[in-house]
Amino acid sequence: MNTVTTASGRVRACCEFCGRMSRPVALASDGRLSLFDLPRGWSEAPFRPTFTHPDGSTGSLWQCPACVRRLERGEGLPSRADRAHSAATTGSEVHTGT
Ligand SMILES: [Zn+2]
Repeated sequence: MNTVTTASGRVRACCEFCGRMSRPVALASDGRLSLFDLPRGWSEAPFRPTFTHPDGSTGSLWQCPACVRRLERGEGLPSRADRAHSAATTGSEVHTGT
């Protein structure tokens, strides 16, 4: 799930790594969430609007400010989809190797 639509028709971006959600923002004129409407610090991994991810969500992925900072420090963050997959296959925690 990369975005969540509220009852009022606004959209929250959902962080692809930790699941944190932004405040609700209005959609751009093309009906899509725009990075420029999100609070400072959020980042976008652009995908075609028609691109379908393994969890069924479509379009761009979003990263919250905290995860963007961790990525900038060089940490490799597993996406929630990857983490679910590895937990299902190994049943163990993910080790960082540090
Ligand atoms: Zn995050």
